[in-house]
Amino acid sequence: MPCNPRGCDIDLVSVVLHEIAHGLGFTTLFDYRSGEKFDSRLRCPDMGLCSLAEGCAHGDCLGRGYDDRYLLQLIEAGTGRILSTMTSAERAGVLVSDGGLAWSGDELARASVLLNSGVDINGDVHMHDPARLAPGSSVTHFSPVLSPDQLMEPGYTGPIHDTGLPGGLAAYLLADLGWPLRAESICGDADGSGQIGIADALVVLRAALGLPGSCPLSVCDVNGDQELSVVDALLILSLVVGNPVSFDCSAG
Ligand SMILES: [Zn+2]
Repeated sequence: MPCNPRGCDIDLVSVVLHEIAHGLGFTTLFDYRSGEKFDSRLRCPDMGLCSLAEGCAHGDCLGRGYDDRYLLQLIEAGTGRILSTMTSAERAGVLVSDGGLAWSGDELARASVLLNSGVDINGDVHMHDPARLAPGSSVTHFSPVLSPDQLMEPGYTGPIHDTGLPGGLAAYLLADLGWPLRAESICGDADGSGQIGIADALVVLRAALGLPGSCPLSVCDVNGDQELSVVDALLILSLVVGNPVSFDCSAG
């Protein structure tokens, strides 16, 4: 639906896409204030759902609870520590660290090459972690420092309908959660955007240089020599600038 709102108008389609992304899994279930995992309080002895026989003496079961799929991908930026393996207090601390919360996942890392800010050298993308906790906003959005602006930032940034790059990185985060990005992969379409462009060459180049982020041969080995190299990236660039290049990923 084409739309170009003016002034302070808000684009309905962008808002709907934003909320659908939350519904598809761009959300988490642990307690933002305490850091406790989902269901851990319900399993405490004084609430009747946890027994000594389960090893829950002295409130130890507060450390229990369930990991949700989203939580498993959250890390502390810089150290790489995984939030799901931290204590509740440590986890709660990272949520208000103002720059210390990030997402670690191969799909999002591959697609993050065109971000100008809000991404670490290894492809970890920063999530919203203001020093003052904002329930409903912290954690379950990208950091507002990301540039270009993203559909899944905590505040409305403008009309974004494109689920490919540059504003639709949410699709790649959802792919890290297990949603398929596409029915069939295209040889040379390294970022999975559905078309071949400069970003694909950058993704292949990163992989060829050994930087983090996966790049399967079946998509990225465009000259079919069963390895990723700078040559594959150059062939993609050559196609992008209009040269008659044909790809063959069949070796992968
Ligand atoms: Zn939201």
